[in-house]
Amino acid sequence: MATACPECDAEITFERSPLNGEVCRCSECRVELEVTCTNPLRLEIAPEVEEDWGE
Ligand SMILES: [Zn+2]
Repeated sequence: MATACPECDAEITFERSPLNGEVCRCSECRVELEVTCTNPLRLEIAPEVEEDWGE
């Protein structure tokens, strides 16, 4: 699955179907992105937090 980064428009690809609420990082601009919808796949910039989300 693939979608575009809302920050820099780079392509974000997932090896498997992402879960709603899953957080990933754009490989281009390093922004943290949260999956807000899985069908269609939709990402939003995650609020900046100090906590480690875990990988
Ligand atoms: Zn980006």
